[in-house]
Amino acid sequence: VIDRLNSAAHGSVPFSVEFSPPRDEAAEDRLWRAVRTFEQMHPAFVSMTYGAGGSTRDRTVRVTGELAEVTNLLPVAHLTAVGHSRTELRAMVGAYADRGISNILVLRGDPPGDPLGPWEKHPDGVEYAEELVRLVCELGDFHVGVASFPEGHHRAPDLDHDTRHLVAKLRAGAEYSITQMFFDVEDYLRLRDRVAAFDPEQGAKPIIPEIMPITSLRSVKRAMELSGSALPASVEKRLSAAAGSDPDENRAAVRAVGIEIATEMGERLIAEGAPGLHFITLNFAKATSEVVDNLGLARPVPEGTGGIGTGSAPGGQN
Ligand code: FAD
Repeated sequence: VIDRLNSAAHGSVPFSVEFSPPRDEAAEDRLWRAVRTFEQMHPAFVSMTYGAGGSTRDRTVRVTGELAEVTNLLPVAHLTAVGHSRTELRAMVGAYADRGISNILVLRGDPPGDPLGPWEKHPDGVEYAEELVRLVCELGDFHVGVASFPEGHHRAPDLDHDTRHLVAKLRAGAEYSITQMFFDVEDYLRLRDRVAAFDPEQGAKPIIPEIMPITSLRSVKRAMELSGSALPASVEKRLSAAAGSDPDENRAAVRAVGIEIATEMGERLIAEGAPGLHFITLNFAKATSEVVDNLGLARPVPEGTGGIGTGSAPGGQN
């Protein structure tokens, strides 16, 4: 990931995208359609989230492996500690390594069911992501990223506590962080300043901002709630005006404003020197592609870092 970020042509900012594990065959077909679209746009990397407690574990590992094998994309596998013993976590890392995946985004995960509910460590597991960073780094030559939180993590008592533990994950071996989605760019800039002030060496590591192009007001409000956050009033006002009084929302108008907001955020983040932009796609390519096009970020694969892209999908899907 760091090589890909660094190999971006001078003056151009790389983008990357986040996929989620498909739950069934139809969802897998949809994912592959998105994958093939993004392949043409050459993202720096693509990440695959990990279902709470490993709910879709086998499919996740298989599909992430296929991304490494039959596309020109660089996959980053998310790995969460919740519900797993250390032995299971080692086995997961081994399963990814067997499929040629060495980039792992290490996370603690949230309690399945109620993400804001009480956290319980697996009796033979780890308590915090920092321990999982150490565990993964001890297992071999892996490139580890971690999560960061522009508004602070919802369980952290204050921003200093949150910054201290983010820095601990970076010191433990993480090479970069990807933020939780946010809608106020000032929050991202303050996070970057906090980390740099706390530890200049760790502050030099990339903090990649995560952007969600909004296509539904209801869904984004729900997603924010689940992460213990809320939409800023100014953003909600713009989206609500577009949604109108229709209980089903004016989807096209909300989507247009969502793309506008994501584009504005991208422009500001690029101007402020963000090392890349990571987009939540929900396995749909269209909204993110529009934002990437608006920002002029699609670019040729850097020399020597391309994969073996075949132009086809495994199992004949496409
Ligand atoms: P940690 O770094 O362990 O932090 C958890 C809390 O504990 C924080 O409040 C922190 O300040 C505090 N803390 C940390 N270390 C210590 C310590 N030593 N002592 C005291 N307090 C401490 N979830 C999924 O289930 N699957 C995914 O694929 C997924 N992908 C994500 C991708 C990104 C980019 C982000 C931002 C989040 C993702 N999440 C995912 C959600 C994530 O698992 C949750 O936000 C989780 O609550 C926090 O994970 P963490 O790795 O930051 O935890």
